[in-house]
Amino acid sequence: MKEKFSLPVHPSLGDMPSEEFQSAGHKAIDWAVEYLNHIEEYPVCPDVAPGDIRRMLPQAPPQQGKPMEHIFSDIDRIIMPGMTHWNHPRFFAYFTSSASGPGVLADIFSSVFGTNGMVWQTSPSATELEQVTLGWLRQMIGLPESFWGIMYDTASVSTFHALAAAREQLSDLKIREHGMIGRKDLPKLRVYASEFVHSSIDKAVIALGFGTDGIRKIPVDESFRMKPAALQDAIAEDRRNGIRPVCVVATVGTTSCTSIDPVPAIAEICEKENLWLHVDAAHGGAAAILPEMRHVIDGCSRADSFVINPHKWMFVPVDLSVLYTRKPKILKQAFSLVPEYLRTSRDDEVENYMDYGIPLGRRFRALKLWFVFRYFGWDGLAVRIREHIRLASLFASWIDKHSEFERLAPVPLSTVCFRARPAGIETEEELSVFNEKLMRAVNQTGKAFLSHTKLGERYTLRLVVSHLRVQESDVREVWEIIQAQMVQMMKRPSS
Ligand SMILES: *Cc1c(COP(=O)(O)O)cnc(C)c1O
Repeated sequence: MKEKFSLPVHPSLGDMPSEEFQSAGHKAIDWAVEYLNHIEEYPVCPDVAPGDIRRMLPQAPPQQGKPMEHIFSDIDRIIMPGMTHWNHPRFFAYFTSSASGPGVLADIFSSVFGTNGMVWQTSPSATELEQVTLGWLRQMIGLPESFWGIMYDTASVSTFHALAAAREQLSDLKIREHGMIGRKDLPKLRVYASEFVHSSIDKAVIALGFGTDGIRKIPVDESFRMKPAALQDAIAEDRRNGIRPVCVVATVGTTSCTSIDPVPAIAEICEKENLWLHVDAAHGGAAAILPEMRHVIDGCSRADSFVINPHKWMFVPVDLSVLYTRKPKILKQAFSLVPEYLRTSRDDEVENYMDYGIPLGRRFRALKLWFVFRYFGWDGLAVRIREHIRLASLFASWIDKHSEFERLAPVPLSTVCFRARPAGIETEEELSVFNEKLMRAVNQTGKAFLSHTKLGERYTLRLVVSHLRVQESDVREVWEIIQAQMVQMMKRPSS
């Protein structure tokens, strides 16, 4: 006699039954809608101590399966209390990421297909949609057709691959064949970037065997942009000392204050010195989709490689980073290694993205870019980014008008660097302590989230206006909160 199972009983073999998948799927979407509709009721940053969440979870693996509703209820009970709400409209910290509706839906399709786009044959749609959407993005930001693109997870990984290609370009050194260890014939290799470069460049330099002293930080001008003359001098000095320059990294939108390095002048030097030019436009590149902001990527068509993160200011859920390069052959030379079981009869006709990097397996990330581009359109993305730039300049104007606040950097994009400067607090040291406390007080309200940086010795508050959901009322509210917290702090005797 066959046993009869009634639903919902865990099947002993195979996947979740389709009826259960359907009803749980509907509930998940309902939950998501409810969450996003009420997201402002949650504190942007959770009030938990290290270990609080871990302690709520069993330390042993679950022996028996449980129905989905148990798992869902633990989202509310265990996970939610420890969530920082990146989709909150008053998340003004770091560089924001927004998981837009179309982006979230695309991720569902990506998982449902469960495809692994290692080579063209393992999902022709994955490879070809990636090629086409990266062609669209390239046109939107105004890079020439000579730029070939590939998706990775993060800018850190994109940059690592760019610098690996820059190293590969030194073909006389044969580093792919012989490595770097134990070689007396290898000169010291050097990468150049401004003092404000993102730490991912330093990490790539470490991972590629150049050493932490394999990167030379070039001083910046009063607007935090790399000084080309200082770059030129550093290269000349290194050459005199037998050091081999490899690559210059210019940043379009530094992480601290979104300063934009003078790429045309840097490109000039790279061309003269025959150096690879990598541009890090992880956050700032998105602004170039606006005709009036195209200038941010001036000179970038002369770069050898260029990174932009659609998961930052293009409303694509984490993670999606794009590397463009004019020299895909060199990138391929650095990484291509095709085992027999991955050879196909079409290899001459198609792109096999596994040839261009460390990962073999590849998620179907192109769906996210496709959904977001098609849903909002170029125009829809542009009006949103334009509004962010307007709101940031509005906030900057309030800072500039207020006698007890000061702006600490220009606002080339939509990030405002500022600090409080109340009467009676004079020294740099006191100002740093005061502003650190002010930021903590603002963040503890749970109503907004700011982060900080240091510009020179100055403790600097950053307000980044680039969230999909942010409105003028949110910017007004955070300004009210900042002022109110400052008034509170001035009332209290200083501790
Ligand atoms: C955010 C950022 C990065 C790192 O991005 P990940 O995708 O998190 O690796 C690198 N450079 C700049 C300029 C950034 O703003």
